Amino acid sequence: MSRFANKVAVVTGGGRGIGQEIARKLASEGAKVAVVSRSASSCGKAADEINAEFPGAAKAYPVDIADHAAVQELAKQVCEDFGSVNILVNNAGVTRDTLLMRMKEDDWDTVLNTNLKGAFNTVKGFMRVLMKAEDARIINIASVIGLIGNAGQANYSASKAGLIGFTKAVARELAGRQVTSNAVAPGFITTDMTDELPDAVKEAVIGKIPLATFGETKDIAEAVAFLASPGARYITGQVLAVDGGMTM
Ligand code: NAP
Repeated sequence: MSRFANKVAVVTGGGRGIGQEIARKLASEGAKVAVVSRSASSCGKAADEINAEFPGAAKAYPVDIADHAAVQELAKQVCEDFGSVNILVNNAGVTRDTLLMRMKEDDWDTVLNTNLKGAFNTVKGFMRVLMKAEDARIINIASVIGLIGNAGQANYSASKAGLIGFTKAVARELAGRQVTSNAVAPGFITTDMTDELPDAVKEAVIGKIPLATFGETKDIAEAVAFLASPGARYITGQVLAVDGGMTM
């Protein structure tokens, strides 16, 4: 199946975890993928792994997405390298979990600047090229925590709830140019981010998931690929929870 033949995708946070799997999935169906992450080693390794399976499909771009000017340069470079962009996946995200009583200004700023401002930065950078592209898609990786909140994650919850509002505003603003904008809200997915959780927390979380297991990065990549595909042309402004039923 090659739903993404002749399509170019940008995946932020593509160096590891969910983002790497999204980049791999899009490449597996024919897309050329710009893999963006903070460190050159991470996006370089991910691009190498994707190219080993799908030769010539991926190129690495080490950029801090919280840096507005650097992201505008990234957009220029990707357009120069690939000629166009059809799919933008805003996946890069960080946590700085702690109770509000202990949360420092820097914990707030780092999370909001990456998870929310990062998406603003990339949409600003790529919107012109997306508006010119066929079947253009913006897909933001939010979180169930942006829907239901969580103690110890006020910064992260606010960033992801903000990202959902941003997704809908962008959907309304760009609909006239046939650019869709949707969010995927993962539940608990096995990655470096969730590996950090203590076992007791993991067990408590599983107790709240009707399907009684953590999700895998593939579960999110499948949902993103659907939203990026021609089959999803009439879907915009939506939040698709991929969470084993946790927030139904
Ligand atoms: P992860 O394993 O920690 O990977 C995060 C990726 O984002 C890395 O490639 C990292 O780059 C990149 N990144 C972080 N800050 C960046 C910045 N300022 N500029 C550019 N790249 C940056 O995370 P994950 O678990 O795959 O999560 C991916 C997304 O899904 C995040 O938005 C997260 O909030 C969301 N999510 C995850 C879960 C879950 O259960 N895992 C649940 C809900 C939502 P480096 O590799 O260079 O460090």
